[in-house]
Amino acid sequence: MVETRTAYESLLTRVEKPGRYLGNERGMVHKDPASVQLRFALAFPDVYEIAQSHPGLQILYDLLNRRSDVYAERVYAPWFDMEAELRRAGLPLATLETLTPLRDLDVVGFTLQYELTYTNLLAMLELGGIPLHAAARGAADPLVIAGGPCAFNPEPIADFLDAVVLGDGEHVIHDICNTLIAWDGRERSALLAALAGIRGIYVPAFFEPRYGPHGKLVEIRPLRTGYERVEKQIVADLNTVPVQQTYVVPTLQIVHDRPSLEVMRGCVKGCRFCQAGYIYRPLRERDPRRVLEQAEEAVRQTGHDEVSLLSLSTGDYSCVNPLLTELMNRLAPQKVAVSLPSTRVDALAPSLLEQIKRVRKTGFTLAPEAGSQRMRDIIQKEYQEAELIAAAQQIFSLGWRSLKLYFMLGLPSETEADLMGIVDLSAKVAAAGSFRKEVIASVSSFVPKPHTPFQWAPQIPIAEIESRQRLLRRELGKGRIKFRWHDARLSFLEGIVSRGDRRVGALLLQAYQLGCRFDGWNEVCRFDLWEQALRDTGISADFYLRRRTLDEVLPWDHLSSGVNKTFLQRELARAFERTLTPDCSIERCTYCGACDFTTVRNVDYHLTGAKGSEHRGEVIDHWASDIVPDSDTAGAWEPRGWHKVQAKQGGEQPVGTSTPLLDATSVGAARPPAETARGLGNAEEWLSAGGEALAPVVDTVGPPQTRIRLTYTKLGRARFIGNLELTTLFYRAARRAGLPLAFSQGHHPLPRFAFGPALPVGVESVCELVDIDLVEPLGAEDVRRALGAQLPEGMEITAAGAIPLGGPSISARIAAIRYRVDVRQHINGDGGAGMRRRIDAFVESADFPLRKRVKGTERIVNARPYVAGLQLLEAATIEAMILHGAAGTLKLTDLLGAILELDEREARALPVRKVATVFGNELSLSDAASAAAV
Ligand code: SF4
Repeated sequence: MVETRTAYESLLTRVEKPGRYLGNERGMVHKDPASVQLRFALAFPDVYEIAQSHPGLQILYDLLNRRSDVYAERVYAPWFDMEAELRRAGLPLATLETLTPLRDLDVVGFTLQYELTYTNLLAMLELGGIPLHAAARGAADPLVIAGGPCAFNPEPIADFLDAVVLGDGEHVIHDICNTLIAWDGRERSALLAALAGIRGIYVPAFFEPRYGPHGKLVEIRPLRTGYERVEKQIVADLNTVPVQQTYVVPTLQIVHDRPSLEVMRGCVKGCRFCQAGYIYRPLRERDPRRVLEQAEEAVRQTGHDEVSLLSLSTGDYSCVNPLLTELMNRLAPQKVAVSLPSTRVDALAPSLLEQIKRVRKTGFTLAPEAGSQRMRDIIQKEYQEAELIAAAQQIFSLGWRSLKLYFMLGLPSETEADLMGIVDLSAKVAAAGSFRKEVIASVSSFVPKPHTPFQWAPQIPIAEIESRQRLLRRELGKGRIKFRWHDARLSFLEGIVSRGDRRVGALLLQAYQLGCRFDGWNEVCRFDLWEQALRDTGISADFYLRRRTLDEVLPWDHLSSGVNKTFLQRELARAFERTLTPDCSIERCTYCGACDFTTVRNVDYHLTGAKGSEHRGEVIDHWASDIVPDSDTAGAWEPRGWHKVQAKQGGEQPVGTSTPLLDATSVGAARPPAETARGLGNAEEWLSAGGEALAPVVDTVGPPQTRIRLTYTKLGRARFIGNLELTTLFYRAARRAGLPLAFSQGHHPLPRFAFGPALPVGVESVCELVDIDLVEPLGAEDVRRALGAQLPEGMEITAAGAIPLGGPSISARIAAIRYRVDVRQHINGDGGAGMRRRIDAFVESADFPLRKRVKGTERIVNARPYVAGLQLLEAATIEAMILHGAAGTLKLTDLLGAILELDEREARALPVRKVATVFGNELSLSDAASAAAV
């Protein structure tokens, strides 16, 4: 094991962010692999910073590791540099926890959040030593499964997966584990058959797609009797999921660097483009008391200074206001902020904003989605323009200086007037901030998603997206509104895969083999290789981006999200009638099919009468029947609105051609009255209800009373922790330790810590220094003990002492640093004589030109005055004393690389250890003179 770790760690000096592969985070689960019956790799096909941000994965990690018979480990996609290093070294992709190659685990379970991570999934399988095709795997190979939103159309990757989980994973994951443990390990087909018996498990091998003469899917033929359709798994009551016990606290800075607490799952607002709004139905809120309990536990365990209340639209959580008030009362004194990552416009209320800004003005994003009222009606966005402007005014008046507006272009039937609506609306928001605030219009491109009313809609081609982007850029620029857009090429690729069938697997494989990785990252996406893969496989992008007819067999027709196809067709009809559909959690059931009303139904927590709950789910009203005939017969009807669009466009378009911008009046001349009457207990009224309960936070944190100086080590894997991460690591450790920290002033108060000079990543140290200010006179030994217990492996506090508050900083006092470097690897057959000569020559020289990098620029400096001592010791160790002065210092690996004539990779891999920090008063007279010269 030690040898394996050494082999992997030797790669880390050569990659951009070694922290991605360290696996030494606080909260990481350690188990003896020999003591469990099942080893489960939780895999995420993206880099650590994104993967570790995904809360669903953390929940599964916690749930699985509570079991004594299962060990869940994590594995994420290696970045290009790490993949190259693994291949060069002949090492397989392995788990973070135990460095076990993927091929040696029992299950590899991928979370699929985004279609453009599929080439990474293939790379992970191959690097992990697992046959890519499910059909090629034997009894000894791991089971490869996948879940997440993309699993609702897994056909493009069906050939590479043994099984797919549809729906909520918290309960079914145990069924999967139990099935694997019970399996005799002989016939893989027997295992797949057993898995197919579990609700929510789709085994692609048990279905066979058939295609017609024009290439369209005509049937997805079930190959096993009684296994014709797969229903999703659902956790009917989120409170039955145990509160998370263990939290992995990343050392590396990640995208969402805070605990995310899920307050509810599902959304019944019915935005017609939103896949999550359909596949996660019905609405299930978590008991606010459990959310509170979990928030406090998360802060206590992680030391984070922010928690996030997660859901598809947290402003719609019934208890959002009382919950926020209580949360802030408990967390604000600790300077812990609460953020709401996504908020619908009409769910905002002044009281809600007041709460959020109490600790910190986190960035504010609103999602108007569409600029014109016509388009808002089509996509089912209930808010009116005046509500958005009022919300923007409120946001700016409360002190936010920047507001991001999130829109989509390319929505079905979009006209130029709709696009200009984006410009107008953004301008009105900017005016709400008196044009002194920053307004950013972030515009993504519509990609039709399976299981939504717009699943039949066409996706506009790249050239059309880019032309609409140009129009927006020009028009928004006139109003000095910042424009952000999504790369049209990525939307194009996403569109092919998201509604793709099993044949798209060949395209993915070819793109992977050509070298495509991280296709969702526009800076590294190799679109040229994708174009080549399309040519090589003969796959037509137009075929997958085209409008689908209502009678067409869709690749995901055999997979049920709970919402029936008739409902989606009705919604499509209502879209083009510009008719809104009521929120069934406030008004009445609209019969989408997601509830059975015995075990599964909308669940919410609200004050009596706050929402119209009494009829919810009790009365099934076929209100939509008068819009279209109630028929499931494929092709029996088409929505009238769609016909209108087609008529206006002059008939059906040929496949793959652009959807022309329509005249603004072409669909529905007059807006019908909204059906969503604001009845008693409307969410917005409810949000405002708690306003009086707000009390200003009493700032209990006073000025610093004590300063403690700590000396600590940074050894082993801890040497790869970067300086930025180190700061965060200390902040969080101090919070967990409960130290009475002093904070800086300003919008973003931070604990008052002062670190010594930055240590290069990869260099070990036994003498790092940090000063910590406290608001209470705590003893140095108490601080050492409390904080030391919170630091990771390799970081130990070796000394602690109180120092005067007004004294000089660590950096101001340091005059030199002493290092030792093990150079055994570079001693030739001469016993080190050659190396000694080179060192002696350096010491005797007056001038030694060295390339020095300063803030991204390179210049040549004379290295000699920076070096107070350099010698080769008997034990093949170089000892060096490098001076610090006003002109800075030298990087020892650069210096030794130049003296010993090593290439850059060899120099960076030198095992350097900092052994002493020398303060000015400890230098010899001659060294002090040199230091002064530096
Ligand atoms: S079945 Fe009715 S109550 Fe349940 S989510 Fe669908 S529309 Fe809402």
